[in-house]
Amino acid sequence: MDWSTHSVSNQVDELREVDLLAIDPALQQHLRRLGAAWALPGLHAYGTALGRSETFAQAAQANAAGPVLQRFDARGRRIDDVRFHPDWHALLTLLRGQGWMARPFADRRPGRWAAAAAGMLLHGQVEAGTLCPATMTQAAIPVLRRDPALWAWLGERLLDARHDPSDRPIDAKPSIWLGMGMTEKQGGSDVRANTTTATPIGGADSAEALLRGHKWFYSAPSSDAHLVVARTPEGGLSCYLVPRWRPDGQRNAVRIQRLKDKLGNRSNASGEVEFEDAWGLRVGEPGRGIPTILEMATHTRLNCVLGSTALMRAGLVQALAYARQRQAFGRPLAQQPLMRSVLADLALESEAALVLALRLAQAFEDAEGPAPDPLARAWQRLMTPAAKLWVCKRAVAQAGEALEVLGGNGYVEESSLARLYREAPVNSVWEGSGNVMALDLLRALGREREAAQRLWDDLAEGCGDEPRLRAAQVALAPLCQGRLDPALAEGQARRITQRLVLLAQAVLLRRHAPVAVAEGFIATRFGPDTAGIFGALDPAALDVEALLARALPETPPASD
Ligand SMILES: Cc1cc2nc3c(=O)[nH]c(=O)nc-3n(C[C@H](O)[C@H](O)[C@H](O)COP(=O)(O)OP(=O)(O)OC[C@H]3O[C@@H](n4cnc5c(N)ncnc54)[C@H](O)[C@@H]3O)c2cc1C
Repeated sequence: MDWSTHSVSNQVDELREVDLLAIDPALQQHLRRLGAAWALPGLHAYGTALGRSETFAQAAQANAAGPVLQRFDARGRRIDDVRFHPDWHALLTLLRGQGWMARPFADRRPGRWAAAAAGMLLHGQVEAGTLCPATMTQAAIPVLRRDPALWAWLGERLLDARHDPSDRPIDAKPSIWLGMGMTEKQGGSDVRANTTTATPIGGADSAEALLRGHKWFYSAPSSDAHLVVARTPEGGLSCYLVPRWRPDGQRNAVRIQRLKDKLGNRSNASGEVEFEDAWGLRVGEPGRGIPTILEMATHTRLNCVLGSTALMRAGLVQALAYARQRQAFGRPLAQQPLMRSVLADLALESEAALVLALRLAQAFEDAEGPAPDPLARAWQRLMTPAAKLWVCKRAVAQAGEALEVLGGNGYVEESSLARLYREAPVNSVWEGSGNVMALDLLRALGREREAAQRLWDDLAEGCGDEPRLRAAQVALAPLCQGRLDPALAEGQARRITQRLVLLAQAVLLRRHAPVAVAEGFIATRFGPDTAGIFGALDPAALDVEALLARALPETPPASD
């Protein structure tokens, strides 16, 4: 007689042992379109490494263990260090070794920004915490390379593809990580309220200063240096490079008070720090600290869009793979009409985020150099905050919906979807929260009339004679042509941002995606049933089969 009560049936493992790029025809197609075909072999190798069970396990372990603050060594000397699980370092080694972080600055080939974006899109599907130090380090590069002396000191170390976790002075290290420090207790969005002071060493004109004060959020606090905003004796704000070690070989007085106990992003350390006359070296012009750090923030905002797009893709892939196998009421979930509506909607949202994120990345490339493309500059200035608000918010909703496709299995900690869900809100909060992004868009529309007009003209061209898009575009005219009452606009800033982003996504899909995707997006986002929960759509308006096949081919196409 068999006494066993333990049998397992109709349980579906998460998708593993796949090349994350091979199962994503849309990403491959858009990379080729953007001139990044040369990067595909490397990205396939990276997608394969990331898609392994072992890498997913490392991601789970790095998050479960989390960082631990070590303020003192065994004999009581301050070290203000953070200890990480070895899997955190393994993931950073993988990330940095693949080279996407430095690629936009180390490589001159067209498509370099799209290729770098793809690296982030792949990595972010498996582990998001490691993207934080990578993003801050990458984003500091355009700021630091403006200063020849600083670049001569740091440039090679920033572009180096090795991960060096050692806690040593910068001069002793082949490669370094950087962070940023703006947010203080009394305010994060309003950087002008910063109270940390910088007292120049040896005369008012000196670029060296001693910093006193604090930062309330200081992610990756054990990075080799941070760019920090502080107030000068003249009352203005300047930006300073504050390393862990001073030039005289002593530890710099950056005291890590504690680490935040965060909702998500748990593999990554975010500290609270105090500066006890910490040594800093000014970056950028005196009194221009906010524009200096904002150049860095603009780049980090692009990466927030990419990171959230990656989360959306990760949720979609696992949801679809699960629904194709899991049976309910006698059929796989993916064959149930209502589940198909949900999955198709998630697929539309995911590709809309993808084309937007890649267009933005391309704009960063085309806006570089002595003759920047004016449309690219317009995209960079106007669409960065708009996309940051929209995509990061949509990722939160999408994470909850993708989790639910797995039912209770999605809600338990063994599921990668649970971690993804906890991770999702952070991109919306940091680097400029939602409202701040909407207000930034409004400010830019008001100040940068020529850029707004260029964007509007481009969107008009992209709408063609599609009546639903044409109507949406005409409704945006007052915004882009400076005919907006600023007093009324502020309360509507989210509404305006939403309209602009949806239109931009529709135009991009119309130009660059298959008809099923473009038409599906327009029908569901510009029709009578817009705005609501995922799956609340009329499937008769969609080619659901085509959408699901593109989102996750049943048989992945052969690799390049
Ligand atoms: C995990 C994590 C890591 C972080 N790491 C760093 C880091 O490394 N370095 C760093 O400098 N910061 C970091 N931050 C801080 C983050 O950038 C700030 O939390 C964020 O900028 C918001 O600032 P705040 O928390 O002070 O909120 P507040 O500025 O008080 O804003 C609160 C809310 O009010 C809204 N708001 C603000 N102004 C307006 C307005 N005029 N109209 C309407 N609404 C408004 C905001 O959108 C927000 O929703 C991190 C935050 C998190 C969560």
